[in-house]
Amino acid sequence: MEKKLIYMDNAATTKVKPEVVEAMMPYFTELFYNPSSTYGVAGEIAQEVDKARETIADFLNCEAREVFFTGGGSESDNWAIKGIADARKDKGNHIITSKIEHHAVTHACQFLEKNGYEVTYLDVDEYGMVDPKAVESAIKSNTILITIMFANNEIGTIEPVKEIGRIAHEHGVLFHTDAVQAFGHVAIDVKEMNIDMLSASAHKINGPKGVGLMYINKSIRISNLIHGGGQERGKRAGTTNAAGIIGFGKAVEIAASTLEERREHEMRLRNHMVSRVMEEIPYTKYNGHKTERLSNNASFCFRFIEGESLLLMLDMAGICGSSGSACNSGSLDPSHVLLAIGCPHEIAHGSLRLTISEETTLEDVDYTVDKLKGIVERLRSMSPLYEDFIKKGGND
Ligand SMILES: *Cc1c(COP(=O)(O)O)cnc(C)c1O
Repeated sequence: MEKKLIYMDNAATTKVKPEVVEAMMPYFTELFYNPSSTYGVAGEIAQEVDKARETIADFLNCEAREVFFTGGGSESDNWAIKGIADARKDKGNHIITSKIEHHAVTHACQFLEKNGYEVTYLDVDEYGMVDPKAVESAIKSNTILITIMFANNEIGTIEPVKEIGRIAHEHGVLFHTDAVQAFGHVAIDVKEMNIDMLSASAHKINGPKGVGLMYINKSIRISNLIHGGGQERGKRAGTTNAAGIIGFGKAVEIAASTLEERREHEMRLRNHMVSRVMEEIPYTKYNGHKTERLSNNASFCFRFIEGESLLLMLDMAGICGSSGSACNSGSLDPSHVLLAIGCPHEIAHGSLRLTISEETTLEDVDYTVDKLKGIVERLRSMSPLYEDFIKKGGND
């Protein structure tokens, strides 16, 4: 019998839906033409690309010409930050972000710091929330951009973006949000939510890897990302990834029509998983916000446990999880997000992120919790720290 694999790492990437693959296939084979070419068959492909752009624009409540396709979420984040820093350098050199952003944002900001820009990294509370008042206090006369993520990829916390956007606009500052985790999971209306720029990625919502987007409000002047041909209104040159974009459009179409039912299913299973873990595994911390969080995310810290050993043993049991972020895998430093929410180093090391999907079943969840419980017990039984702790009566 084939070994069953339970995939609980949907925040790292998702499976491409068969309907998406089907929509993409012709653009690798009989419709391989360059959509920028002049002959008729090429024009038909360009029309399909535009249809995908319209689907996505409808989903975000913006205009199609405000949607720019890129090579993914990291690329969009880099563009937003460096592109605005460059376009507004005569207006100022100060950027506001948070301490829990994805590395695509954090490292782009650090790059700018080396080039004469000044960056404020805002603290978050114990649930991973950015305080809009702290954003307001950080604004200075030379602030050009606020970039705060929509939802965190490790602990799932959904940030008060609408309020942050309102404050940004009151002070004449642009607001960008990395919505890679939220897009397709939470209803987003960029106009209503005061968002000037937004990054998203196809592979986090059952689309293909290597394609993403940035929504850029039409009134904004931003430096071009890639110089070359006239694709993406000349802002992001390079032969159009027709198959990828059309697949992205299909993924969004499906995500839009299933958003509510997916949310309900995931919430029910996630909540079941969390209550079982918290009831059955002692000395465990549930990370993130109780209610303001992504429906598919559960994040834990198990005391007296090494996250890496935990992942290895889960893997042997056929369960794919993560220690927090795929980008941190292989690194011995605890996650910057867990440290920012006030987890002490030794507790942050025992972290586990499980992100489910609409395909996850109750059986999967119960199997995972059963295994997890046994593994945590086994690992703790080998820990001298745990032994000491129990000898002292199990209290701090
Ligand atoms: C995955 C992710 C990214 C990076 O997106 P890619 O398309 O993989 O480059 C950026 N931000 C967040 C919050 C993410 O979860």
